[in-house]
Amino acid sequence: MKTPYGKECKFFYGDYARGHETQECRLLANNPESENWFPALCQNCPVPDILAANQCAHLRLYGRVGKSLFGLSKKVEVEGFCDQHFVDVQDPRVGCGHCHEIDLEEMQAAES
Ligand code: SF4
Repeated sequence: MKTPYGKECKFFYGDYARGHETQECRLLANNPESENWFPALCQNCPVPDILAANQCAHLRLYGRVGKSLFGLSKKVEVEGFCDQHFVDVQDPRVGCGHCHEIDLEEMQAAES
């Protein structure tokens, strides 16, 4: 579903049918330690670009509301975790990198 700022995000939910105007971010809603979501957070959120760049089914994202530099505004901070290799993912746009090792090993085994 598209966020109020026009980017596709699987964590955004909006219901505008029959007079409803419900919007929520299910990524932040899943983190009870995060401050509450509000629509403006979608504007600079890194998650839509992460999801567009990396569609690995094993990538788990954890989000929270953090403060920007100098604490003047709020932003979404994201951490990634690979549930296949049980490692933190430093750059969720790229992934943990271990699946590429497996692909390479399989290719090398097939060639030999
Ligand atoms: S805040 Fe980020 S993760 Fe949440 S709905 Fe908006 S774009 Fe998606």
